[in-house]
Amino acid sequence: MATHQLDLLENALDSLAEALGKYEEGESGEHKAYKFAVLHMSHFVELIFKYHVAEKHPLLIYKDPFSQKLDRTKTITLWDAVNFINNESADALSKAFRADLEWLKRLRNDIEHHKFSMDVPEVRTTIGRLFRSLMEFINEYTNVDIASSIPKRIIATFTVLSNEYEFRLREAIKEAEEIEDANTPHYSSGDTTVVRLECPSCGNPTLVVNDQSTTGFKCTFCGNEESDDIPATCDICGVESIVGELDYWETEDGQMESRCYYCSGRHHAEKDD
Ligand SMILES: [Zn+2]
Ligand SMILES: [Zn+2]
Repeated sequence: MATHQLDLLENALDSLAEALGKYEEGESGEHKAYKFAVLHMSHFVELIFKYHVAEKHPLLIYKDPFSQKLDRTKTITLWDAVNFINNESADALSKAFRADLEWLKRLRNDIEHHKFSMDVPEVRTTIGRLFRSLMEFINEYTNVDIASSIPKRIIATFTVLSNEYEFRLREAIKEAEEIEDANTPHYSSGDTTVVRLECPSCGNPTLVVNDQSTTGFKCTFCGNEESDDIPATCDICGVESIVGELDYWETEDGQMESRCYYCSGRHHAEKDD
């Protein structure tokens, strides 16, 4: 491998390590760190694509490899590399991948011109998606073994970002935590309203209050809206309980009515036995 290619690859891996480290800081609450994660990730993408082009021929890294006097100060841009890859194989970069690359370019530009206003959840999910698309490209079209060159301290973040299921779960838990924080009443008010439960459908702590849901709760991971532990009141006497402790009766006009142990008559029935 020529020196130039080796440099490109080493720099690419350094950028990835930086991106993952900053992403991790962002995840632990240091929201400004996401900005640097975006910048480093964008360098990683650029260097990997250029590396791929240089692998075809080292001179292709220069803007005009066919000129009589090669100008080694002018190298190709990210978009030159993207076009090259696209001309080489039309399905190497999917439409969605290209759209995410455009997003990355806009965001990087905004950051560099200090016009950066960040939608943190959007940054998190788009970086994750972009990273997985890029890993697919790397695995399919290059001989680079990324996983084995990831420093140990950030391997957990690398794994979460690479694995769609793990990633979605982590995002859902984060979203549920944020909803819980935003809806938790102050202790001083004496309010003990439950706002977050374990979801009986997927088993994650992601069933949180939701205005759009008919039960008042919705899982941020699987979308389930039901649980026996959802707070509910008896329609007859108004006692506070949970769904699983109440009986549900259909009234004459077709409405569902909840009744507690006493109001349902169960108390009487069991006493008579
Ligand atoms: Zn669920
Ligand atoms: Zn009752």
